[in-house]
Amino acid sequence: MKILVVNAGSSSLKYQLIDMETEQVIAKGGCERIGIEGSLLKAKGNGKEKVYEKPMPNHKVAIELVLSALKDNEIGVIKSMDEIGAVGHRMVASGEFFNKTTLVTEEVIKTLEEKTFELAPLHNPPAVTGLRACMEVMPGTPMALVFDTSFHATMPEKAYLYGIDYDDYKKYGVRKYGFHGTSHKFVSAEAAKYLKKDPKDLKIVTCHLGNGSSISAVDGGKCVDTSMGFTPLAGILMGTRSGDIDASAVEFLARKKGMTHAEVINYLNKKCGVAGISGVSSDFRDLLAGQEAGNARCALALDMFAYQTLKYVGAYAAAMGGLDCIVFTAGIGENTPTVREDVCKNLKFLGVEFDSKTNDQKANGRILEISAKKSKVKVLVIPTNEELVIARETAELL
Ligand code: AMP
Repeated sequence: MKILVVNAGSSSLKYQLIDMETEQVIAKGGCERIGIEGSLLKAKGNGKEKVYEKPMPNHKVAIELVLSALKDNEIGVIKSMDEIGAVGHRMVASGEFFNKTTLVTEEVIKTLEEKTFELAPLHNPPAVTGLRACMEVMPGTPMALVFDTSFHATMPEKAYLYGIDYDDYKKYGVRKYGFHGTSHKFVSAEAAKYLKKDPKDLKIVTCHLGNGSSISAVDGGKCVDTSMGFTPLAGILMGTRSGDIDASAVEFLARKKGMTHAEVINYLNKKCGVAGISGVSSDFRDLLAGQEAGNARCALALDMFAYQTLKYVGAYAAAMGGLDCIVFTAGIGENTPTVREDVCKNLKFLGVEFDSKTNDQKANGRILEISAKKSKVKVLVIPTNEELVIARETAELL
């Protein structure tokens, strides 16, 4: 069976077509500037790439173009749409309404619209627009929703609750939900496979370090805690997000900067993090270059990032009562050896023996074991694959 994985944003739509027999990506691409002048689709298939510069006034036209690219006589990989067994849609937030991958019905869409849009106003509404477009263009093809939050549904109450009035938690659903669940799920399962261990016997801390970053404690194959919260703003500082901050500072900043609370939240999401600290960039390549050139604020941003990551690893080892493995993944986790080293060099007391030489190698899509052979705690770099998790869960659901 072939599964189409779709990740729709407000003006973008990324896709992969995955053959589930081989779990190989047979075509992929993305539409950009949907609803904006100059829209285009960059599509790959058959080892070739093609760029379609066509007006895409809405997501329906975008998905129609994707389907015609999949059937294209040059880069196409299917003859008919019937070869697509199902579509798996990435959905960011589920609230407490869905705790697992869910088949789409009108009732499900209604719950999404009424209950989850306000939890993820930037992500869920465009994802539903993409979903509705696919349903229109591919009537009869089953659609599944795979939530970023599902893997975290196993967290115990003591981990996901904030210290607020319990009745308000019940009434408004203000609690930690966590994000990047498909990535944490994938890399923790891959770690167990690599170590030839039953996931049940492992205590793993997974560090998804990308432009958005989150860290999870995975005990016995289940998520027991995670660093992102009610929204993806929480946890460690990120590319442009502040990470955890005293809530009183929101009101204080609003007064000082003459902003509304919503404007402060936008500022904390878009103008802070390592970009705000360095004053240079949210991209770690620029920060590393800045540090090399003697820019103290770039060095500080890198230092804070590693320090905050380290604190979560330590806290989660304590929460699980032990640690067998640390996994680094995503853009920074896979590509920035200095961050990994800065985190791991302080973890000797937990039994981490670091192998700097292997750490400096390029992972190039492979799993890298960057702890020394004798290390009690294994440290792995594992390339994440969120699309494959979405495809697998969609196939399983069918
Ligand atoms: P992601 O959100 O997982 O795509 O990660 C994106 C981030 O990864 C970028 O903003 C960079 O900070 C970082 N990144 C990607 N490639 C590299 C690289 N080769 N070296 C250092 N950082 C990288």
